Amino acid sequence: MAEPKKCAHTACTCVCSDGKKYCSQICEDSKSMMSIKCDCKHEGCSGR
Ligand SMILES: [Zn+2]
Ligand SMILES: [Zn+2]
Repeated sequence: MAEPKKCAHTACTCVCSDGKKYCSQICEDSKSMMSIKCDCKHEGCSGR
């Protein structure tokens, strides 16, 4: 059973499914930029 995990992006509050580390490609791409806001635009994400 995979437990829901928070997106590995610091500012992102989304929960990932499927055992992924990031909720979206956007989060994965921005991890190297030390972004303090999340731009995934998911509903419920408070990282922006
Ligand atoms: Zn997000
Ligand atoms: Zn995310």
